[in-house]
Amino acid sequence: MANFKQHITGGFITGGITSTIALFGYGLTLLQAGVVFILGVLGSVLPDIDCDTSTPLKFLFGYIGIILPVIGLQYYPDAKMENTLIFIVIGYFLIRDVISILFLKITVHRGIYHSIPMAIIMGQLTYLMFFDSLFTHRIIFAIACCLGYLTHLTMDEIWSIDLTGCHIKRSFGTALTLKGESIIVTIIAYIAIISLAGIIYWTYS
Ligand SMILES: [Zn+2]
Repeated sequence: MANFKQHITGGFITGGITSTIALFGYGLTLLQAGVVFILGVLGSVLPDIDCDTSTPLKFLFGYIGIILPVIGLQYYPDAKMENTLIFIVIGYFLIRDVISILFLKITVHRGIYHSIPMAIIMGQLTYLMFFDSLFTHRIIFAIACCLGYLTHLTMDEIWSIDLTGCHIKRSFGTALTLKGESIIVTIIAYIAIISLAGIIYWTYS
């Protein structure tokens, strides 16, 4: 499998291409194209969220630790500065240092997080996250995250083939897959896809 640096490079390429298309093909502003780029990069490292080694985990939970409190604050536009600061600081450390450890305990590396259904779920969540953006922009944001995610899975598959020795490592076929580590996890993932699709449809109409 590819390492963190290679995944970030893959994410920069996917995010770069997607944001350029969004900027020139769909008339997004420079700022919105920047969001597309960030989502492409984020998507490209997200699958390793279940990885026990510290770099991807710290990066992702640090990032999520900022994003989630900021999203939460959207619901409290009148919050005072002192409350905002405490909320962000507590939210950040709670997510980065507590939730990340609990998360690691219940996940299996290269399980459901390295699968196509999870790429779809991340795209759906991205769409729902940008609830106050235009429909087309939300779709582009979702596609950027999903493509970044699929870039990661594709890279893991490519890196699982030893090109010099024509030899396939045991990890081959465990990233670009339609299933998780068990039938139950797979079923939960598909139920999540259907439920999120329902919420998206319901919020759209
Ligand atoms: Zn991976």
